[in-house]
Amino acid sequence: MLLSASRPIAGLSCAEALAALGSGAEGLSQAEAELRLLRFGANRLPQLKRRSLLLKFTDQLRHFMALLLWAAGTMAFVAGTPELGWAIWSVILINAVFSFWQEFQAERTLAALSQVLPRRVRIWRDGSLQELAADQLVPGDVIELEEGDHVPADCRVLRAVQLYLDVAVLTGESLPVARNPEPLTQRLKTSEATNLLPAGTTVAAGRATALVYATGAETEFGQVAHLTASTVCSPSTLELQVGRIVRTITTIALSMGALTFTASLLFVGMGPVESLVFAIGIIVANVPEGLLPTVTLALALAVRRMARENALVRRLSAVETLGAVSVVCTDKTGTLTANAMALRATWRPGDGPEPIRAASAGGTSPGGSPPAGPAPGSTDLLLLGAALCSNARLEHHGRAPEPWRAVGDPTETALLLAAVAAGLDLEAELRRLPRLQELPFDSERRLMSVLLDWQADPRWPAATQRLSITKGAPLEVLACCDRWLDPAAPGPMGAGVAVLLGSPERAAVLAANDHMARLGMRVLAVACRPLEPAAPLQEQNLVFVGLVGLYDPPREGVSEAIAACHRAGIKVTMVTGDYGLTAEAIARQIGLLDPPPDDGLGPHSGGTVPNGLYGNGLHAAMADPVRVISGDDLNRLSDVQLRQVIKFRSRLVFARMAPEQKLRLVQAYKALGEVVAVTGDGVNDAPALRAADVGLAMGRNGTDVAREAADIVLVDDNFATIVSTVRHGRAVYQNIRKFITYILASNVPEVAPFLAMLLLRIPAALTVLQILAVDLGTDLLPALGLGAEPPGPDTMAAPPRRPGEALMNRPLLLRAYLFLGPIEALLAMGGYLLTWRHYGIDLAALRQLAPALLHHSAAAEVVAIQRQASAVTLGVIVAAQMGNLLACRSEWRSLLQLPLFANPLLWLGLVSEPLAFGLLLGLPGLAAAFQLAPFPPELLGWLGLAPVVMLLAEELRKLVVRRRRFHRLASSRPGPPLPGSPLQPSA
Ligand code: ADP
Ligand code: MG
Repeated sequence: MLLSASRPIAGLSCAEALAALGSGAEGLSQAEAELRLLRFGANRLPQLKRRSLLLKFTDQLRHFMALLLWAAGTMAFVAGTPELGWAIWSVILINAVFSFWQEFQAERTLAALSQVLPRRVRIWRDGSLQELAADQLVPGDVIELEEGDHVPADCRVLRAVQLYLDVAVLTGESLPVARNPEPLTQRLKTSEATNLLPAGTTVAAGRATALVYATGAETEFGQVAHLTASTVCSPSTLELQVGRIVRTITTIALSMGALTFTASLLFVGMGPVESLVFAIGIIVANVPEGLLPTVTLALALAVRRMARENALVRRLSAVETLGAVSVVCTDKTGTLTANAMALRATWRPGDGPEPIRAASAGGTSPGGSPPAGPAPGSTDLLLLGAALCSNARLEHHGRAPEPWRAVGDPTETALLLAAVAAGLDLEAELRRLPRLQELPFDSERRLMSVLLDWQADPRWPAATQRLSITKGAPLEVLACCDRWLDPAAPGPMGAGVAVLLGSPERAAVLAANDHMARLGMRVLAVACRPLEPAAPLQEQNLVFVGLVGLYDPPREGVSEAIAACHRAGIKVTMVTGDYGLTAEAIARQIGLLDPPPDDGLGPHSGGTVPNGLYGNGLHAAMADPVRVISGDDLNRLSDVQLRQVIKFRSRLVFARMAPEQKLRLVQAYKALGEVVAVTGDGVNDAPALRAADVGLAMGRNGTDVAREAADIVLVDDNFATIVSTVRHGRAVYQNIRKFITYILASNVPEVAPFLAMLLLRIPAALTVLQILAVDLGTDLLPALGLGAEPPGPDTMAAPPRRPGEALMNRPLLLRAYLFLGPIEALLAMGGYLLTWRHYGIDLAALRQLAPALLHHSAAAEVVAIQRQASAVTLGVIVAAQMGNLLACRSEWRSLLQLPLFANPLLWLGLVSEPLAFGLLLGLPGLAAAFQLAPFPPELLGWLGLAPVVMLLAEELRKLVVRRRRFHRLASSRPGPPLPGSPLQPSA
């Protein structure tokens, strides 16, 4: 520590505190910071100890299914078949290794993700403000904090503007507490000292400049070890659901085993030992050994894919919820738009209704380059005021084509760039006209004001020492104005004069505002007021100066993403703080607004906006084809009315929305049973993010608070990324259904030999060991391959699944157990009988051989044929599973419609099947252990037939399903099928 314990930092004045830490108002030099980084270490909390790998491995030997297999193995020993006992026990081991590996992979993926998005902090270094990773902080650093920021280290306040701190993490107190730079005389706890900002808290409102005095493990927060638990990965509901499924199937398997045991004992006349062995066979055949780890891996794979597409998952269960999302409520600025705000137009009192276009941005082409603005020299109050009333900063970068690097809010950055382009020397102005006081922007007031030491600067028409500047949403600013600055009227200093603002003048301002807004511009008004030296900063009796119009072009790919949502039956609702006309113009540009109901021509054919829509409340909102509802409209709606408004509309725009109204909207959607995804960036968005089924925070322009409240962080803030996360969420769910179908189908041919033995009194076609060879050998890789299928054309072609729907629903079970399974079983048993027939033994003769084979007393040549017949049976199952694998890639789409080479793991799985079977049969040691023998090549034809039959049968079934689906769609609605219909594809 640099500080002595006797003089706590809270008791020092700001200057003393800076001196004590060897720092200055401009922060540390980069060189000094690097030295301190070596000395104090990175600003990171020590990692919590993880569960040891060994413990995790033994977990795999102790869960429900493992216990069951332990019991089965023991029974096999008791029954006098030690090979089987060993085999089953080694199954536990193989399974444990496999599951362990998958879980390890999954965990590593998640752990890596938490490091992808480092917290950024704005630090003063070498006298300039830089954005660095928070772990670079050292004691002595001076940092800037603002609303929504996470306090990255223990800090002492140097300067505060309306600063409120959320200390709930430390004290549980949920109301924000005020903080200021005043030194304290008493000794207080860190969380109570009114001039300290402990690490781990967040800035609830206002802004601060603060001095870092402790980092990493030295912080108060770092010493409370139990608080450091990183993102908890509780099992997702999907994993819980699959766990339940596994238990259900296992129970079924156990009862089937018991039944077989009784039946074979009573009706087949087998001894108890043989009956037991067969019962074990039935059980082992039906237990879905590889299911749970495959689910975990499928989830992890999706998380990794999403990360590659710029979405970081913070809560695993969000992945599957994404698949069920039916409504996306999205921000406009930066999410639907490119966040490349630039000045497009200005308007000053006396101008005509048309605003003056900014010089370089004259066209309608959406370009992100900074505009040139008015001609240099016209350094008028409008751009100067807007720039001085901003907290963003520009930094010389030197290099073309982007000579400026901007730090801060994009709206304000655009204003600064416009001022610079207009020829203002911003740095000089900032120095000459220092800021005395500030009322920060918040999205409720939609205003921001500063008080400047104006020093009678002639750009204000009457000499004044103090000038306040307010900028914000035009209607809100206008409400605070009683005069405007008429540049045409000669004033005492020749630069215009403030004249009374009557209703015609107000109407002129509103007309200019609407004109710009209708072109999709975000409009801000600037107003000023000269003040007496002692007078406080107030947003009252202002003099209106002018309007600036900023244009933020729609993001590339957003129109397509919105269209994809509509095809996928997902409603998209824009929720913005912006003005209705601006929101509407952008919404039309990206195809988000419904066409009027009677023309059906497409999203761009919407009618004109009737005057007075914004503010006419329910009537206008319900009756008009234009679906823009303002926050005020919303306030006039009851909950029931709101639900009616949102229920039947798949495209809606909510403008001028305050954050708590966003929360209300989310709750209304949820009350309708929708699964809601919501984006958010501000502190006030946190409740809505938490209330939503999936909260998505902005990684780039979002606050730390929003990120912490969210389930998923969008690294690029892009709406299209949301759609791709939904795609992946759906794909996971579908993939799990795919491999469950695949695994369950092969259970039927595995049980069939034992049923045939009971019913037809023929020898059992398979041994328990052979069944295990399929379940834990040949089936494993292909199932993984299905779990790794990337989202395909199916994924976004159907409406979202209903949230309560079971993963293993009836169509899936019917398909696996009554369609795919029986076909495989028939093929396999056919292969068995064909082999005997090949040697001239028909069904009747085979029946007579059964007892001898059962009691291991059959002649050598009979045993040899039995081994060949088993090999054929097994081979047919493996071959049929190859066809099944391809069939399971889609529930209803033809194989020919699917991308061929999108998933290498699937093809690896496919070729692994014949290879594994070949080894089993070809290696003499293995063949003997599994009681298999090479069979006559004539029978290979039957093996080759199996996958073809499987595929053809599936193609036929899929064709019928597609037909039925089409008819249902056609008959359920007149006209073309509409997106958002509640129809589910049948499996
Ligand atoms: P959103 O980001 O959803 O579009 P905001 O709440 O950020 O909405 O902004 C609402 C309105 O407040 C904007 O339309 C604009 O007129 C005004 N505004 C936005 N940012 C600022 C700012 N930094 N200073 C003053 N006014 C602002
Ligand atoms: Mg904003």
